[in-house]
Amino acid sequence: MFNDEYQRMLHARSMNNRGALLDSGECGCFFCIKTYSPDKITAWINDETAKCAFCGVDAVIPESSDYELSESLLLAMKEYWF
Ligand SMILES: [Zn+2]
Repeated sequence: MFNDEYQRMLHARSMNNRGALLDSGECGCFFCIKTYSPDKITAWINDETAKCAFCGVDAVIPESSDYELSESLLLAMKEYWF
């Protein structure tokens, strides 16, 4: 569905993303495929990388003008990375 380069760009948003998440109104997890408000996130790896508020996996990406944060995007990422 997406090429490797695009998947790597998306995946990079799940790491060291605290600032980006706190600036965004919505985030999504590509492990449990939930979207929710980033203020629900309470656990971080090294204070910088979000752990999902629902499943605890570090697979959370913020909304962005670079892509549409949709269920189909999260599912494509799950298929690629897990
Ligand atoms: Zn999750």
